[in-house]
Formats: sequence, C-alpha cells, structure tokens
Amino acid sequence: MNKENLENSRSVLAVDIGGTNIKTALIDSDYNIADEIKSKTPTTYEELIDYISSLYNNDINALSVAIPGGYNYDKNTIFAPNLTILNGKNILADLKNTFKNIPILIENDANLATLGEYHYIEKAEINNMILLTLGTGVGGGVIINGKLHKSHTSTFEIGHIISVDNGRKCGCGRYGCLDEYANLHALTLTYNELSNTESNLSPAKIGALVDEGDLIAKETFYIYSKHLAKAITDLINIFVPDKVKLGGGLSELSKYYLDDTIKIINNDIFPLYKGITIVEVASLKNKAGVIGAAVNYFKGS
Ligand SMILES: [Zn+2]
Repeated sequence: MNKENLENSRSVLAVDIGGTNIKTALIDSDYNIADEIKSKTPTTYEELIDYISSLYNNDINALSVAIPGGYNYDKNTIFAPNLTILNGKNILADLKNTFKNIPILIENDANLATLGEYHYIEKAEINNMILLTLGTGVGGGVIINGKLHKSHTSTFEIGHIISVDNGRKCGCGRYGCLDEYANLHALTLTYNELSNTESNLSPAKIGALVDEGDLIAKETFYIYSKHLAKAITDLINIFVPDKVKLGGGLSELSKYYLDDTIKIINNDIFPLYKGITIVEVASLKNKAGVIGAAVNYFKGS
C-alpha cells in the first residue's frame, strides 16, 4: 500500500478489464501509480461487478473503466466479442450502486490506450495520431486535431475491417476481419496452415523459430506484415496522421514484422503521402489501459 503519496491529491481508480486479466490502480493527477493489482478476469458478470465494487474507498475521486469492446454512450450498452459476459449489460448502472457520488467513465480500452499514448507519451505535441492494439483482439483509436474521435459510441473498430474476402470467422460475426489475421492467435493459425500441423506455438515461440532460421516461421511473420501493412496503408490514405503507433502484446515482437510492414506501406501508399507518417511501436506497454483511463478523467477526451 502506498496511499500516503496520494492522500493530498485527486486520484482516480483506473480499471482495465481485459479478456484474460483485470488491472486496477489508483492514479493521481501527476500520473503516480499506487495500489496496482493484476488478477484474472472474473468469469461471470456479477463477480466482475463485485470485484470492482470491492475496491471502493473514500479516497477515490472518480472511477474510470476500460472495456474490451465497443461502448454506446447514449444507451450505456456494450458489444465485447472477446469478453461476452459484458454483452447486453449496463455496467454504468451496476457500478453506480457502489460508486454513488463520484464520476464514472466507461470507454473502449484501445481508445483509452490511444488517449494515454497521445497525452502521456507524446505530450499532445502532434495533431493527428492513430494507435493499433495488437493483442487478444485488434483495436485502435484515432486522434484528430488533438481530440479522440468519438460518435454516439466509441469508434475505430479497426480489427473489424475486411482483410481477406470470405476468410476466417470473426467474433463479430463477419468473415475475414483483420482481427483474425493480426491478433495473438493469428500467427499460430497461419503457422499451422503453412506447415499443415495443429501446433499450439505461441507468437514468441514462432519468433524464436525465425531466429533459428525456420522458413515457415519467417513466412508466417511476412504474411502478418502484409495484413498489417494493408490496413495501415488504408488508414494513412484516409487520415495522413503524424504517427501510427503499435501497442498490445504483439508490439513486443515487432522486430519480426515491423521493417517489412513499413516497406510494404512505403511501396503501396498514395504517393503524395509518402514520408509523412511515422510508424513505430507504442511506449506505454501493459500500463496503457490504466494510464489511458486516468488521462480520460484528468484531461478528458
Ligand atoms: Zn470482426
């Protein structure tokens, strides 16, 4: 416990609900982090609400929650293909039972990672930025002229644009979504397709095979680069951002695909846009969700 440091400052309880783990932290307006906890995401919605509610205390000035799905601000509804216990629930109403008199903010986790990276790492010194999260699912967010783009709902479900016609079935119901070719599981599927096996190789293990000179592993990452480059080229052709940043677990393996991705983008991009957008790995790593949630409270979006 490290609450003493935070006692005299405003602090937000930041909660990052993931498909596998839930991370929580108490964060002050200087982004000092205390009471960081990571545990397995509860398997039922009721247990999830009980868990978050158990973290209530009088020092908290706000609750800011990152969810792994789209959020409708008008109706307070969620669609979360990778954490279906949230679907159809009104998490705002259920958290208000405990967090009665303080602001509660709910936002898509990739949108929050974008917001966190933009304010906390980039210090809002660029105007336009896109972040893609490459993890259990593929998400993202876009900053346009210094603001996170929003509509009636959270936006930028980039994982659900089509990468392959009639391709792999996606959790959203469509076939061939980018998510199925760029998420954590995609590399294993591609490796198995190429090698005609049913291995359970992790992305890190496939990377290790590249280091050992395995040609199938190398081709697996090249195919990954092609799917990613196709999506990023389209995004640059639309937004021409200052930066496209890659976050999420697979950004840690970027040495196996980033150079090829950038090469393909430079080859395919609308010629006038060449050389404007920097494509690089994000800096916030596994704290992106909680820092982003805190930024959403202290800076707004
Ligand atoms: Zn989809």
